[in-house]
Amino acid sequence: MRDAFLKRLFAMIKCESCGHNYEVAGIEVLGHEDNLWLFSASCNFCQTQGLIAIVVKEGKIAEVITDLTEAEYERFSQSVTVGVDDVLDMHNFLKEFDGDLTCMFSEG
Ligand SMILES: [Zn+2]
Repeated sequence: MRDAFLKRLFAMIKCESCGHNYEVAGIEVLGHEDNLWLFSASCNFCQTQGLIAIVVKEGKIAEVITDLTEAEYERFSQSVTVGVDDVLDMHNFLKEFDGDLTCMFSEG
C-alpha cells in the first residue's frame, strides 16, 4: 500500500470515540493477509487507541471495521505481540477462519 493511498484511506476513517479523523502518523500496520489489512491507530485528539481491519479489493476499500475499544485493544495487545510468527499465525488463522470478523471484533 502506498502512502498516498493510506492517507486517503485514513482520511475517511473517524475515531470511534470522538469522531475526529485519524492521522497517518498515528497509524501502524500490524500485518496483512491478502486483502485484509490490520492496523492499530491512535487518535491525536482523544488518545483513544483502536484496531482497524480493512478489506481492500482491487484498490477499493470494501469494508472497514473499527469497533475495538481501548480496553479491548489492551487485551489484544497483551495477548498478541506482532512479529513474524504472529503474521504467520494470522495467516493460518484467516485461512481457517470462516466467520464474520465483526463478530470477533465486537462484544467483549
Ligand atoms: Zn478520538
